Formats: sequence, structure tokens, C-alpha cells
Amino acid sequence: MFQELLQNQKEFFKSHQTKHIDFRLTSLKKLKEVILNNENEITTALLEDFKKPVFETYITEISVVLSELDLMIKNIASWSKPEKIRPALMNFPSTEYIYNEPYGNCLIIAPWNYPFQLAMAPLIDAIATGNTVILKPSELTPKTSALLKRIVSEVFQPEHAIVVEGDADVASKLLDLKWDYIFFTGSVKVGKIVAKAAAPHLTPVTLELGGKNPCIIDESAKIQLTAKRIVWGKFLNAGQTCIAPDYILIHHSKKEAFYKAIKTEIEAAFGITPETSPDYTRIINKDHYERLTGLIKNETIITGGQQNINDNYLAPTVLDECSLESDVMQDEIFGPILPVISYTSENELQSIINSYAKPLAFYVFSSNMDKAKKLMDEFSFGGGVINDTIIQFTNHRLPFGGVGESGIGAYHGKHSFTTFSHQKAVVKKATWLDLPFRYAPYGDKLKTL
Ligand code: NAD
Repeated sequence: MFQELLQNQKEFFKSHQTKHIDFRLTSLKKLKEVILNNENEITTALLEDFKKPVFETYITEISVVLSELDLMIKNIASWSKPEKIRPALMNFPSTEYIYNEPYGNCLIIAPWNYPFQLAMAPLIDAIATGNTVILKPSELTPKTSALLKRIVSEVFQPEHAIVVEGDADVASKLLDLKWDYIFFTGSVKVGKIVAKAAAPHLTPVTLELGGKNPCIIDESAKIQLTAKRIVWGKFLNAGQTCIAPDYILIHHSKKEAFYKAIKTEIEAAFGITPETSPDYTRIINKDHYERLTGLIKNETIITGGQQNINDNYLAPTVLDECSLESDVMQDEIFGPILPVISYTSENELQSIINSYAKPLAFYVFSSNMDKAKKLMDEFSFGGGVINDTIIQFTNHRLPFGGVGESGIGAYHGKHSFTTFSHQKAVVKKATWLDLPFRYAPYGDKLKTL
């Protein structure tokens, strides 16, 4: 069945329809219209899937998707044009170009944590670039996945783009097929499965993965503002964000002040009982709830720790001085738990951060710009921010992606255009002149060089 869907998309791609800019524009404009008509349905689906606050759904899902659509609609024509580049002297007389050629048939596999945006944005980018798409959203957000299926089917013919719902089994059946491009967002573990499945066909992949994102607070940081910005970035979506700060490394002289500040900032954002706050998301399911509550069992809790199994609720939780051997410091946390570790020397920072794989995000809070920039320079990571969290995501001019175990490739804005197209080199050689130098017999031409 999946083979048949893909075969139809292959035939459709061969018809060259997707290469027409007008066709792409019409599809994306229609998609925009249908999304605008379904804004309420989108917020309802996310509320039902994991109590995602309406405001967060708007700013982190709907508006991100709408602005990616607008950007693509505005730029498809100019970004698709062959780019004329400076010709090589050796080729004189010639004109030389880079063509952006759509790869063809793309498979997109999406996660549950931003289930609308992380499925829709790559779909928009792949379509804008002239590809066909089969999209498999996450089975953990069934309401959103069903809505994605309906929206896509209202806009696209199945041979152009279609949503296939299902779990890991469905994903692995799809991965058995021969694709021209695979775009995967999810865990490192599944990212490796995707890379393995792509290898026999030499299919290019983008892997948007995760990791343990460090957040350094040095002795010169403005503590109250630091705490406020960390509370926002960490507890947005209840910490289920790939670029959320995973753990804090704080200069020992600032630890007590930070604890005081983070308690007041959590209370300012979510009240004394975050469980009753309309602005606090739930853990996605029981398995993740149990995994997360297990992580805090043997730790010293500075604030938070309250839980409710009936609702998959775990309060914003800050932990004191977790050991690097503790469970919470092994893998990406992906939940509302913030371990704090104090340091005294920069060597300690080096040895802790370097004991983990290259992270997706990296944060430094400091008033000393030389020091902050030095840290940005010294470590390898997907993207980082000095004195804030998460906001590297918001500028479409910045590439969004990981490095090492946190991912391969990047997207957003024009970077997505490059991601979903093959950059084809084309040289147009003139015939009015034919310089003889390169042709045999070479004789003693070498002496003239
Ligand atoms: P996941 O890897 O469990 O699942 C992602 C997708 O892969 C889902 O559609 C799922 O059905 C599918 N899948 C699961 N097991 C599979 C298998 N064995 N074979 C093939 N497909 C399979 O990830 P998740 O729990 O949905 O999302 C959380 C992870 O995603 C975190 O690690 C987070 O950091 C990462 N993430 C990364 C980004 C990014 O942009 N870099 C964004 C969001 C989430």
C-alpha cells in the first residue's frame, strides 16, 4: 500500500508539475487558507493531546507555520531561479549557474512535542522547493495527527502530498522504501535507525535530533533576569522542547541567589500551584510521566516535585547538585526537571560539557561578553544564545539544526530551500571562441604555466 502511494508520487514528480512555480504557489496559498480556517481546531487538538496552552500553541506552532508559509510564498520565485555565479577563468568564455533542483520524493517523519509545527514546517519547505511528500506524524498526539491528515488532504492531491498516520511499525515500513530525501525529527536513537535505513539507497537525510543542552550562568550574570528567561525556555511546553536548557552549570558564588530567583520566577509564571495554571502543559503520556518522576526520586528538590499521575502532571522542578552519575544526568531529560550543578573553575565546565555528545543548544548567561563569546567559540553545538534561551529558533535567517549526535543538516527559511534541493552545477560554454590551451598535443605547454 505504501509502495503504491510512493509510486504514484514518483509518477507525479516525473510529470514535472511540481517544478512549476505557479503550481507550488497555488498549493501553498491554499494551505495557508485552510490553516487559517482551522486555527481553532488546531488549538483544540493540542489542548486535547496534552493540554498545550492556547497562547503557546499560537506562538510556537501556528504563527511559526504561517510565517514559514509567507516567507516561502514571497521568495519561491527568486530562490528557485538558477543563481548566476562568477565563471572560472579556465572556462572562458562561459556563464555558470547553480540550479536548485528538487530532490523528488520526500519522506518526513515528525515527533510529538510540537506536533503541528514540526510536521507542517518541513512539509511546507519540501513543497515550496518542488518535491512530493509523504508525512508521518507522531502516534503520541493522535488528535493533531488526524487534523494534519485532514488539512493536507483538503489541500493536496495524494500524489503530491499525503499524511500517513501510525507508529514505529508504519515508520519502518515507510523507511524500507526508496526515497529521494528523508527528513526526520526525533530522538537520537531513532535517528540512527533512520540513517541506517537510508544508507542502502544512499538517500540523503536531515536528522533533527536532541541532546543534553548545557546552560552556563557565570559570576557576572544578572540573576533575576537570568532566572526569568530560563524559566520561560525550560518550562515552556513543560520542558518537552528539543532546545530547552537541559541542565544548569552555575558559578558557586551565585547558586543561592539563583535558587531564590528561580522560585519567584516559577511562581510569577505559573502561580503557587502550577497544576491549576492554564499556562502549564502536561507530560505527553504515562511512560514519559513515569520516566520523569523516576528521575527525581533520589535527588534533592529545591522547588517543585509535586505530581499527579491521573493527569500526567509534574510541577516545574529544580534539583540541587546532581551528580554526573545520577540518572537525571545520563540522557536528555525532555521534561520539566532542571538539575543544577555548581562550578568554581572553567576547567570544570570543560570537563562536564565535553563528557556529553555535542548538544543541539548551548546557553551562556554572563555580563562579560568576552568570556561569553569565548565559550560560544570553544564548544561545538547546533545553535546557542548569550543571555537568553530558545530564541535562536525564531530567526529564519539562522540555520536550525544539530551537529554530531544532535543532528545532521539544518533548515528554516532559505536554509530549507537548500536542504530540500540538490544544488546542480551548470556551465554554459560559448562557441564563438575556442581557446586551444587545454587540448593535446600538450608539447611544452607546461613550461608556460
Ligand atoms: P521519537 O524518535 O521517539 O519519534 C519520532 C518519530 O519517529 C515518530 O513519528 C515515531 O513514530 C517515529 N519512530 C519511533 N520509533 C521508530 C522506529 N523504531 N523506527 C522508525 N520510526 C520510529 O521522538 P519523539 O519522542 O517523538 O520526540 C522527542 C525527541 O525528538 C527528543 O529527543 C527531542 O530532542 C527530539 N526533537 C528534536 C527536534 C529538533 O528540531 N532537533 C525537535 C523536536 C524534538
